[in-house]
Order: sequence, then structure tokens, then C-alpha cells
Amino acid sequence: MSTGRESKLAARIARDLEAEIVRRAWATGESLGSEHALQERFGVSRSVLREAVRLVEHHQVARMRRGPGGGLIICEPDAGPATRAVVIYLEHLGTTLGDLLNARLVLEPLAASLAAERIDEAGIARLRAVLAGEQEWRPGLPTPRDEFHIALAEQSKNPVLQLFIDVLMRLTTRYAMQSRTDTASEAIEALDRMHIDHSEIVAAVTSGDSAQAKMLSERHIEAVTAWLQRHHPGTVSRRRKPRRLTAEVPPGKLGEMLAATIGDDIAAGGWQVGSVFGTETALLERYRVSRAVFREAVRLLEYHSIAHMRRGPGGGLVIAKPQAQASIDTIALYLQYRDPSREDLRCVRDAIEIDNVAKVVKRRGESEVAAFLAAHRSDVDETSGDVSDATAEEFRFHVGLAQLAGNALLDLFLRIIVELFRRHWTSTGQAPPTWADVLAVHHAHLRIADAIEAGDDSLARYRVRRHLDAAASWWL
Ligand SMILES: [Zn+2]
Ligand SMILES: [Zn+2]
Repeated sequence: MSTGRESKLAARIARDLEAEIVRRAWATGESLGSEHALQERFGVSRSVLREAVRLVEHHQVARMRRGPGGGLIICEPDAGPATRAVVIYLEHLGTTLGDLLNARLVLEPLAASLAAERIDEAGIARLRAVLAGEQEWRPGLPTPRDEFHIALAEQSKNPVLQLFIDVLMRLTTRYAMQSRTDTASEAIEALDRMHIDHSEIVAAVTSGDSAQAKMLSERHIEAVTAWLQRHHPGTVSRRRKPRRLTAEVPPGKLGEMLAATIGDDIAAGGWQVGSVFGTETALLERYRVSRAVFREAVRLLEYHSIAHMRRGPGGGLVIAKPQAQASIDTIALYLQYRDPSREDLRCVRDAIEIDNVAKVVKRRGESEVAAFLAAHRSDVDETSGDVSDATAEEFRFHVGLAQLAGNALLDLFLRIIVELFRRHWTSTGQAPPTWADVLAVHHAHLRIADAIEAGDDSLARYRVRRHLDAAASWWL
């Protein structure tokens, strides 16, 4: 078993390897080197290197091929681990149904309107096939996962929106599974209504009517919200069927599945940070897995900062403080592969930021908001001329607004976009902003703060929009 220091080293090497994959423009099939060569290059023991390789494999961006001519081979990543990582993190953080539906309202109508602009023959066929599938549902069959929303998001052709909506739908499905429909006929009625809404959205998207698609999508999500709020039990009881961990799954995958199961159980039990979830012996018994699989799962839980193993008396799997960074890195890496355009990033960022400022306007009476506004009113130090300081201030202003807006989901999504921008920035060596840019940004922030203070919602939205457009040249 590795020590904490070795785990950290392995995580750092994993990140280095991933950065190299990005630098090599994702040359699928190329080798990053043999196990031996990589061990020499990083100057680490075989066990540390193997742990680093397991993390890279967990992100599904490279695979170790054994034997002659083998090595760590770059492969096409899959959205699965990225979405799972973020879902586990968000569940662990504890998001509310209100946050979830608010996030859907910010992103899905945007996806619907983009879909109306970008739909093609294949997309129309795909959406119609989903609608046909919905009609075939009968009592006794498993309730269809709301596949429609995923299929519609795909038609936006925006990889950032697609991934975020996928995360939101997974979380919605978890809530919906906890809802109680009293009778089968009630369930059918709900599904029928859903089907009518979906059909209308597809018609608007197919005919290219973005405004209509957007409006119908908003209305549909509001209806779904109302339904979930009526049917969702007051207390969150997470009676889940335990996930079956069968031996047919390859051992690496088994570790990943076990990590997800333990993550779920930790979230479900409302465990406090610092408490012992169980000893290794007790958990081996409980999950009925081999020690090797268990330890693989622990590595992943540690990597995602969900729990860590403490040795010695009173030790065991200890609940950790949730940290967004691992989820942000996993998602950012996957999105780098999907290679979103600046415009893809900007339109999602704008939607989130405009919603954030509107929420902060509503909260303007609170002391936290007042403190934030006061902190950002101080004058720019004209004499310093330090542009990097100003860049940090720009970041603090926007992330600060997101935190005040208080939606953990949208806050995380915005940080992912910022991280993508940062990676893009450092790899392209873009010119830093000029001092005139810095002053313009500071002025824009003051004007936004004024509108928030005055409680002028529409003016605040306008100024944020204008600021983002103008700042775009160096912000994104
Ligand atoms: Zn729906
Ligand atoms: Zn700004």
C-alpha cells in the first residue's frame, strides 16, 4: 500500500502525462513510452508509476499495453468517467432540487435554441426516434430515462453544453427515482404530458424556430420542476437497490464501480467530514470484494477527495472535505479533447453569468453581498501597473458573483470554463491585457456593482453582457 506522499506523487505524474497528451494534440494510438522508460523519466519506483498509470487509465485518456512494442498508448477519452466524477462530487456536496432545476433552466433553453439553428437530417431522425421510443412505453416496463434531453443537447453541437446537461440529467434521474407516483395511471399521464411537450419542442427545432424552441423548453422544464416538487418526498430517502459488483467486470473497472458505490453510500448516509466510514476489514466484508479491488477504489476516492484511508488504531476510511479540483480537472481534460470553440465556451459562460448577476440583485439586502460590493469598489492602483494583479481581480469578481448566486452546480460549471480558458491561454501564449484593458474592466465592474446596489435587474444583466462581450478578447 502506498503512503500519502506516494499517492500525491502519482497524482502529479498523472497530471503531467495528461498535459503531454494535450500537447501532442491527442495523437490517438501513439505511445508515451514503456513502463520502464516512464519510470526512468520521472525517477520513481515502479509502484508509484503504476499508480499514476491507473489514474490516467481511470480518465480513459491512455492505456498501458503490455508486451513487446507496448507502452502507455494515447486513446480516445469517453465522457463516462468525467460525468461520474462530477456527479459524485456534486452529490457529496449536497445540491438541492431547486439548484438543479435552476441550472437546467439556464442551460437547456439555450441548447434548444442552438439546436434549432444547427439541426441536420441525422439530428431530426435521432430526435424522432427518441419520441417514437417514448410512445412505446407501457406499465410494467422500466420508466424511460429522460433520454430526450440528452438527444436534444447533442443537436446544439456544443460539447460544453452537452456535457453539463448530461450531468444535470443524471442528477435529475436520481431525484426522479426517489419520487413516488401513486398509481400506474398517474405515471402514464405524467409520461404522456412529457411526450406532448417533447414533440412540440422537436417540431420547433426541426422548423428552425429558435425563439419558439427556447420558450417551449423553458415551459417544459418548469412543468417538470412542478411535478418533481409535488412528487418528491420531503425528506431525501435514498433507498437504492445496492449496485451488484459482479466478477465479470475487469478488475480496474470493478475498482471504479466500487468507488462510485462507496461515494453514493457516503452521500446517502449524510456522513460528517472526519468521521470513519468503516475499517478496511468491515468494508471488505460489506462490499464482498478482494483487497486489490478495494484498494483500487480507495485510490480513486482519495484522488477525488471523497475519503482517505487512515492507518493505525481508530483508523479506516475517513470522510474527506469535498474538493472541486479533481472534478474540474477531469471534466476540463475531457472537454479539451472535444475541443470546444471559443464561441461554445462563451455562450455557456454568458448564460451562467447573466443568471448569477440576476440572483445577486435579488440578494442585495444581505450583508454578504454588501461586503462583496464594498471589496470591489476600491480603486485600481494606477501606479503599480501590475497586469497580473488585475487578471486575478477579474477572476475574483466573477467567481465571487457565482458564489454569492449560491448555485453549487452553476458555480462548478463556471469554474470548469475558467479552467479551460486558463489551459488554452497558457498553451497559446496569448498576449497579456494592456493597462487600458485593466482600467476598462475595473470601470465595468463598478457599473455592474452600481446596478446591483440599485436593484436594477435588467440593467445589471445588460452591463454584465456588455462587459463579457468587451472583455472577451482577453478573458476568453
Ligand atoms: Zn422532458
Ligand atoms: Zn469582469
